[in-house]
Amino acid sequence: MKELEDRIRRDGIVRAGDVLKVDSFLNHQIDVRLFNDMGAEWARLFKDRHITKILTIEASGIGIAVIAAQHFGNIPVVFAKKTESINLDGEQWTTKVYSFTHKAYYTVIVAKRFLTADDHVLILDDFLANGAASSGLIDLCHQAGATVEGVGVAIEKGFQHGGDDLRRAGIELHSLAIVDAMDENTGAITFRDNDE
Ligand code: 5GP
Repeated sequence: MKELEDRIRRDGIVRAGDVLKVDSFLNHQIDVRLFNDMGAEWARLFKDRHITKILTIEASGIGIAVIAAQHFGNIPVVFAKKTESINLDGEQWTTKVYSFTHKAYYTVIVAKRFLTADDHVLILDDFLANGAASSGLIDLCHQAGATVEGVGVAIEKGFQHGGDDLRRAGIELHSLAIVDAMDENTGAITFRDNDE
């Protein structure tokens, strides 16, 4: 998606440790018009899928999912919560996710009543790096017996393995921008040719 690539080129900051900072329009301050265009693009890309619910993970996924849902007929958005609580009462689907940015495992939950075998789920998130977050969300769907219709991410870092893992697993994945290389010294960012 050219609009997103242009924005990353203009405002993205390459940090040490393969981290791309996009705080000024995606992870902290939010560009609502851009999010709206991203939602429209996912609706186009997933138009052949019967999607009844969007699943994301707090915090950055929420804004993306809420705006995107309006392009899918205002379907419900559920966000998985990160919790440190060990007092889970059995009313939640639970999985463990390794955080690329925080270098630690955390527990992720979704209430069983909000994710069921009736749901046809589109998973949305801001970034795809090694795929831990999306794999965790897919695991929650499998526990619930829900159907995973696909995964959409704003920015895939193509030099990490998450995207390839999902494609190999037969998941329909649409990444709106794929960064194939980035250089923390020059700030240069190389995108994959990704016109879908
Ligand atoms: P994964 O679980 O695929 O390894 O990493 C995806 C998650 O880590 C995303 O939910 C995102 O919050 C965070 N993340 C991974 N790489 C980056 C990055 O380069 N920049 C930012 N801002 N977040 C990232």
